[in-house]
Amino acid sequence: MSFDPARFRALFPIFQAPFDGPALHYLDSGASAQVPQHVIDAVARQDSTARANVKRGVHRLAEAATEAYETARLAAARYLNAPSPREVIFTGGTTGAINLVARAFGDTLGEGDEVLLSVLEHHSNIVPWQLLQMRRGIRIAVIPATSDGRLDLDQLDRLVTPRTRLIAVTHCSNVTGALTDLAQVVAAARGVGAKVLVDGAQRAPHGPVDVQALGVDFYAFSGHKAFGPNGIGVLWGRARLLEAMPPFLGGGEMISHVSFEGSSWAPIPNKFEAGTPPIAPAVGLGAALDWLAGLDWTAILAHELRLTGRILDGLAAIPGCRILGPAGLQQRLGVVSFALDGLHPHDVCQFVDATHGVALRGGHHCAQPLMESCGLVGTVRASLAPYNDDGDVDALLDGLAHAIGQLRG
Ligand code: PLP
Repeated sequence: MSFDPARFRALFPIFQAPFDGPALHYLDSGASAQVPQHVIDAVARQDSTARANVKRGVHRLAEAATEAYETARLAAARYLNAPSPREVIFTGGTTGAINLVARAFGDTLGEGDEVLLSVLEHHSNIVPWQLLQMRRGIRIAVIPATSDGRLDLDQLDRLVTPRTRLIAVTHCSNVTGALTDLAQVVAAARGVGAKVLVDGAQRAPHGPVDVQALGVDFYAFSGHKAFGPNGIGVLWGRARLLEAMPPFLGGGEMISHVSFEGSSWAPIPNKFEAGTPPIAPAVGLGAALDWLAGLDWTAILAHELRLTGRILDGLAAIPGCRILGPAGLQQRLGVVSFALDGLHPHDVCQFVDATHGVALRGGHHCAQPLMESCGLVGTVRASLAPYNDDGDVDALLDGLAHAIGQLRG
């Protein structure tokens, strides 16, 4: 079945909103995806019909709020094919999820233990480990990238050692769009008894994930990139690991008993959800994930990749354009970064926004180590979602041609 982006697009009020200037061509879904009306409605319904605190009250509203919140947890568990909803922890986003692991799992590591990252990581999968390094004296090792912007997994043999405790890598680079072959990473980790954490921020919005088939230990993603609200995200972790980890934040609801002599912890997932959680955002994310799970991803990915191919072809025809990432369409998603000789990415982004209504991202994309390894301060990035169509690609390529004509003088 072919996919109709116009029908999909009609679900999103932002594309009907009036704008000053040119019509909106939104090619920045990798930063934040737009939100469909039914997700906006789910959040509003929660706040207008069932607003109360969760897990503690016994009145009707409190029970309704708790049920809605736990139903959202079930949706996240289904989306990830998690063995149990107890393994799903709501966080503020991918950043919150990785910091939770770096703190709680990290506190089980010691001097000389190694965490293996990659040069493709977002800062949120680098800095938490550097903070752990400062606290616990761990070592950080880094998988380099290949010339086409993938993790250089041939280096795993050299980099994975008997001291490796965790390999923390992205499922899809937010700069190059390359998908990681997690099977190779998991095999290397298992060889030395290490765990695997996956940053799924860019991959999770493009269809359900099967954490059991992937064989990983932790999986993190953000609601706002997956057509859900801001301020909500998910950490999935294997029950036995989560149970063995100390809590990250202390407060209400994460305890079993508190006294001044000492406290004991609630079972998972509550142990890792201290305080009042983002209830309506969780409900909205649940609605988004249930809806995403029912879409035809074979058709959608074919659509996104066809547009990606058009962008890659258009960029390849521009003199002085350097594409970071795979030149082909295998094992990648619709994230395309490029640098234009002599032009600053911010100038390009502002120009195409003002003249052609194209929303792009320009800068280091929170991936400064990758930028530095490529000898760049930043790139322009186009990132696709199912609502994008040929008109968006035309506007992008026209806008770039104009920008180059005007800005390169
Ligand atoms: N990891 C990747 C690959 C990302 O693209 C992003 C956001 O751009 C993040 C992590 C951080 O996500 P958040 O800011 O939602 O926590």
